[in-house]
Amino acid sequence: MSEYVFSPPPPVSLAVLGTEARFPVRRIYCVGRNYAAHRAEMGGDDREPPFFFAKPSDAVVASGAQIAFPRATENLHHEIELVIALRQGGVDIARDQALDHVFGFAVGVDLTRRDLQAAAKDKGQPWESAKGFDQSAPLSPIKPWAGAPPSGAISLSVNGSVRQDAKLTDMIWSVAEIISEASRLWRLEAGDLIFTGTPEGVGRLQPGDQVTGAVEGVGGVTFSLAPTAAA
Ligand code: MN
Repeated sequence: MSEYVFSPPPPVSLAVLGTEARFPVRRIYCVGRNYAAHRAEMGGDDREPPFFFAKPSDAVVASGAQIAFPRATENLHHEIELVIALRQGGVDIARDQALDHVFGFAVGVDLTRRDLQAAAKDKGQPWESAKGFDQSAPLSPIKPWAGAPPSGAISLSVNGSVRQDAKLTDMIWSVAEIISEASRLWRLEAGDLIFTGTPEGVGRLQPGDQVTGAVEGVGGVTFSLAPTAAA
């Protein structure tokens, strides 16, 4: 039996509705600019297709937590998103087979240090510091799913005020297209999560804010930000 030079980190997992068994998280992929109105509010070119970035799996935070206000930002933003959870993977998955790979769906918030993202864009630098920071992925439990993907409302409120309120049918790439496109670039595996992009209405979060997000038919995610910024 091999030993480690120090203890490996615990596996990252999410609760699954209707069972005590948990969903082990492997990788987190994210789609950028998958809603036209959000692409417009970010100043995007309307001919530009959506694209991918990633977060580390240990950015996951279970719904209901209080999270530390992220360090190194003056402009933390919320992005409510439908999240795909895969039960099996593959490469070059055809669109008409893509939904067979879905275990379920969750509701996630792609927390973003918008000021660091703007600086990275200006300099042509990568987005890890803007998107892949600690506790940047609050997530609901996963709802097991079969058949046509969710197609209802997606919304987010801060301290009880609605900030984002849109329809999943406004996505540019559908759930099946996202899985197919991602599988052209990476071998997908069971346990992968894919954030599918956020609709318009992204905005700033402050220390002490209470955030609630929902996707019709899937569930809800809630978290609070610590009342004081991290030291
Ligand atoms: Mn996003």
